[in-house]
Amino acid sequence: MLSKTGGRYRLYMDGTVLDAALRGRLKQGRKRVLVGDLVRVAFHRDQSTTIEDVEPRRSLLRRRSPGRSHGVRPVAANVDQVVVVGAAREPAWDAQLIDRFVAVAAASDVPAVVVANKCDLSDTCETLLHPYAQAGYPVVATSVPEQRGLGPLRTHLTGRTTVFTGPTGVGKSSLLNALQPGLRLRTGAVSAKSKGGRHTTVAAEAYPFGSDGLVVDTPGLRDIGLWGLEPLEVAAAFPEFAELASGCRFDDCRHLEEPGCAVSAAVASGVLAKTRLTSYRRLLEEAEQAARPWKSGGSR
Ligand code: GDP
Ligand code: ZN
Repeated sequence: MLSKTGGRYRLYMDGTVLDAALRGRLKQGRKRVLVGDLVRVAFHRDQSTTIEDVEPRRSLLRRRSPGRSHGVRPVAANVDQVVVVGAAREPAWDAQLIDRFVAVAAASDVPAVVVANKCDLSDTCETLLHPYAQAGYPVVATSVPEQRGLGPLRTHLTGRTTVFTGPTGVGKSSLLNALQPGLRLRTGAVSAKSKGGRHTTVAAEAYPFGSDGLVVDTPGLRDIGLWGLEPLEVAAAFPEFAELASGCRFDDCRHLEEPGCAVSAAVASGVLAKTRLTSYRRLLEEAEQAARPWKSGGSR
């Protein structure tokens, strides 16, 4: 399923986009059809198409609202990967924000790919990406005007369902247009004054990519960095800490201010990027704060 407007669903099938309505039975069952869902359809004599059923999902991107224990909302189905895009400049690379996007993907058990775009404006791309490569994430340095890194990025997108995300103005639409000119997404200049630039990406939800790929780029996924996390999810989102943590003095070390913390020591000795530890601590603190009200309240 590509997108939903009111009660109409846009589907992609064998190279064509078609319009369908939801079968009454599905409506009553309150089964939601999500972007990325594989659906079973029926074609009727009056030329109409209905969605009859939703196939089992292989993954589910979930949004957790901070502080609400029940606030988990499914957003997209069958997502194979989240491509987190940042810009080397304009807007400046924000490691905290990138780490948030990556952590949210990890919380949904969806692999992340980290992209540094606008590498024509700065020679820092490799340095910016290094912490993520070290953590085991695939990374790509790109530039749209110089057509740099587009081949490797296309390879990542081919045959997969990808959520494209990252701060506004980093060049997500430009990258997608460059990779697949037929897409023609609207792009816009980042305004110097506004905080994030204009919302220039069209409100469409998913685009077929190549013959069997899908790119999901919804406005709702733009703020993925604000999605809440559970404390345990935060720990899992920093895989490069795991090996280091075996050297911590305490088995249950949370890498905050504990003595003998091997993760803190790795930052001190330059083995681990300081921004990663800072992001981890901030996300953990946030997650614990959000978890507290209902934990101490007793009932869930
Ligand atoms: P989005 O909000 O992430 O979709 O960003 P856009 O694709 O709308 O791009 C925002 C602005 O950055 C536009 O003016 C683009 O032309 C520009 N831009 C995108 N990619 C690059 C790049 O690789 N290098 C440079 N110098 N500018 C870029
Ligand atoms: Zn530690």
